[in-house]
Amino acid sequence: MQARFHAIWSEITPKLQKALLPYIGNDDFPAMLTAEQVESIKQISEFDDQALALALLPLAAACSLAPISHFYVGAIARGESGNLYFGANMEFTGVPLQQTVHAEQSAITHAWLRGEKKLVSITINYSPCGHCRQFMNELNSGTQLEVYLPNRPRLTLADYLPEAFGPRDLTDTPLLLDTVHHGYQLAISDELVQAALDATNRSHAPYSQSHAGIALQDEQEKIYTGRYAENAAFNPSLPPLQAALIFMNMAGGNCQSIKRAVLVEGENNHLSQWNATESTLTALGCTKVQRYTF
Ligand SMILES: [Zn+2]
Repeated sequence: MQARFHAIWSEITPKLQKALLPYIGNDDFPAMLTAEQVESIKQISEFDDQALALALLPLAAACSLAPISHFYVGAIARGESGNLYFGANMEFTGVPLQQTVHAEQSAITHAWLRGEKKLVSITINYSPCGHCRQFMNELNSGTQLEVYLPNRPRLTLADYLPEAFGPRDLTDTPLLLDTVHHGYQLAISDELVQAALDATNRSHAPYSQSHAGIALQDEQEKIYTGRYAENAAFNPSLPPLQAALIFMNMAGGNCQSIKRAVLVEGENNHLSQWNATESTLTALGCTKVQRYTF
């Protein structure tokens, strides 16, 4: 079992421990559970979907990296596939607070990067902040997304975000988690560049068209990609680096062991991710940061 789960494990009920151990007991547990695993866990633990998502929150929060606030937030996103995806907040010392990732953004982006096409619900251990309510309104689930909190009734995003402004108020655009491919190409035979290009092609930037993606390589040669997730209200947009760091953290990687990073974006984009990407990666100790443009 990964060290991050050790302290919280004793707080999980014995019945649920028994059901979870075949998965969380592995060092390579990817902080997600497939629909098949969820069914098995529900059968052994006798939990229903919602009781299970709530019971998993402390394990999701154990993935939090919060050196500034020491406030540990966990989230569990359930996809229409039946898969469950963990999410946790992330903070980075040495850069502005705007680089922070919230747990809801983490769980949603985690699901997106693993290929989930739509979310049914999100379960969180604290009420979602305004920033996250707006971020969630970008999803193709719309305001029907179910939002669960401990000791609260079932509500939807529409309850948390009345009189919402979102993508449907603008032009007819793809929504977050819709499948897209922008068709950009780069004739460079470098695995990391091609991984970043693929992330760029799947990024969500319907308002600025400034598509961007990134690929990170760690000391174990593992590659983690991240896609830009733009928001109709602009400010809750999630940069590609944050998406990749979410993926890396959830997969059990160490965000301070990145040895090379490649950002891909359009040379004539209205926006550039470069300066923020480079400064945050430098703060994380990565010195080899490259930018490729199409
Ligand atoms: Zn939030």
